[in-house]
Amino acid sequence: PDERALGTLVGEAHPGFDIRAVRRDFPILNERVHGRPLIWFDNAATTQKPNAVIERLAEFYRHENSNIHRAAHELAARATEAYEDARRTVARFLGASSVDEIVFVRGTTEAINLVAKAWGPRHVGQGDEIVVSLLEHHANIVPWQQLAAQVDARLRVIPVDSSGQIRLDEYRKLLNDRTKLVAISQVSNALGTITPVPEIIELAHRVGARVLVDGAQSVAHLAVDVQALDADFFVFSGHKIFAPTGIGALYGKPEVLEAMEPWQGGGNMIADVTFERTLYQRPPARFEAGTPNIADAVGLAEALRYVERLGLANIARYEHDLLQYGTQLLQAVPGLHLIGTAREKASVLAFVLDGYSPAEVGEELNREGIAVRAGHHCAQPIVRHFGHEATVRPSLALYNTVDELDSLSRVLHRLAKGRR
Ligand code: PLP
Repeated sequence: PDERALGTLVGEAHPGFDIRAVRRDFPILNERVHGRPLIWFDNAATTQKPNAVIERLAEFYRHENSNIHRAAHELAARATEAYEDARRTVARFLGASSVDEIVFVRGTTEAINLVAKAWGPRHVGQGDEIVVSLLEHHANIVPWQQLAAQVDARLRVIPVDSSGQIRLDEYRKLLNDRTKLVAISQVSNALGTITPVPEIIELAHRVGARVLVDGAQSVAHLAVDVQALDADFFVFSGHKIFAPTGIGALYGKPEVLEAMEPWQGGGNMIADVTFERTLYQRPPARFEAGTPNIADAVGLAEALRYVERLGLANIARYEHDLLQYGTQLLQAVPGLHLIGTAREKASVLAFVLDGYSPAEVGEELNREGIAVRAGHHCAQPIVRHFGHEATVRPSLALYNTVDELDSLSRVLHRLAKGRR
């Protein structure tokens, strides 16, 4: 281990970021796995939860639990206030101009499906084109494929260069007056590439296309401002940013949401129902049929406040140094090949190791208490593009440390030495 780097990372170079205090906020980091301290490097799959979130959930169920919007009693008022306060928090966190631009959903997958179903068929027709990139998660491929099949539109794919970065020159060539939507990840879950979303949006708008930004892998690592980006849709999952599973958000520009039909019918989303006709609520209620995931929305707001307290700029600086350090360590392992070497990256250190399948590396790391994902990461096209069916994917978050990366590197060096 490079002690100077370690000291710099944990200490003086990050005065606004106290890693030891951060780690104390996450009780699961005290777990032991196979007799070793847990090292959680599976953050791209899901993140761990700070005490603030765990306690907020318990407090909600102890003191506020009720269905929302419907009753005349005190707990309904408390639950409704907590839920709508959560919406305000998400709006602030994303830089939205109004709470009405935030729809609560189950997660990124549901948000994208909502847009594909509720916006898609009205705006994408026969012969039109939907543009995605080769980097996308299956959640940002399959719903568009389904929409394209439904309306007889065409799915077009932006290629990447050898580092795993979007090729903007090729993207420009794909855009034309048939392009109705561009759906793009801000950070790739398989490679960690930070894509040039501002340019992508600007170019799409020049041909009159809308843009959906998949923020599943970006929100925990980069500050997002949907108005500065001029994104038409922005989607993310709470569980990737220290919040509970089963809650996420869809941001949509108000004029875009207003022009969308509901995608599910039921309670909450209606203004008036007769057997002859039903009038719908305005957004966001129009898209939230049924009892929502109230407690977890409240938990999401607590997670976002936690991140705001630490400051995304501080988090990004710390993680940037951590990722650099991890990259150097992995590059020094004989026979290890990093997959995804873009200059702009966040969190992800995907690789393959000569002589071992990704599953074998994952199992060996697990024996040492180190949790990584080994597989195709729900992004088969990009993993296959690099010639693999699977990779090993450590992915970092704000509570990871240089010591943990040293442990990872030690196991990998041992494997490399014992190579068959
Ligand atoms: N998009 C990206 C880039 C992701 O990394 C993920 C999750 O891995 C998703 C979409 C899907 O998120 P969820 O499973 O929370 O709906």
